Amino acid sequence: MPIYEYKCRGCQNEFEALILPRSTDAPECPSCHSRDLEQLVSQFAVNSEERSKSALKAAREKFERTELRDKQIAEHEDIVHHHH
Ligand SMILES: [Zn+2]
Repeated sequence: MPIYEYKCRGCQNEFEALILPRSTDAPECPSCHSRDLEQLVSQFAVNSEERSKSALKAAREKFERTELRDKQIAEHEDIVHHHH
């Protein structure tokens, strides 16, 4: 999902806003709620490595959770099996 950086012309606050594809709402300053914003140059190129690392980490954690769940199911089936 695209993240845009903005600078508020009202209070000079700089912030990142996540723009949802179907969103029709313009972002507003989280500090003063002004919509008089200046869009800054995206820092995506600089941060892409860091972002892909965190995406990879999230994917790995998701995978490990799935592994753990499958293991628990397998152990449960093993217990059920021994009862018979
Ligand atoms: Zn502001």
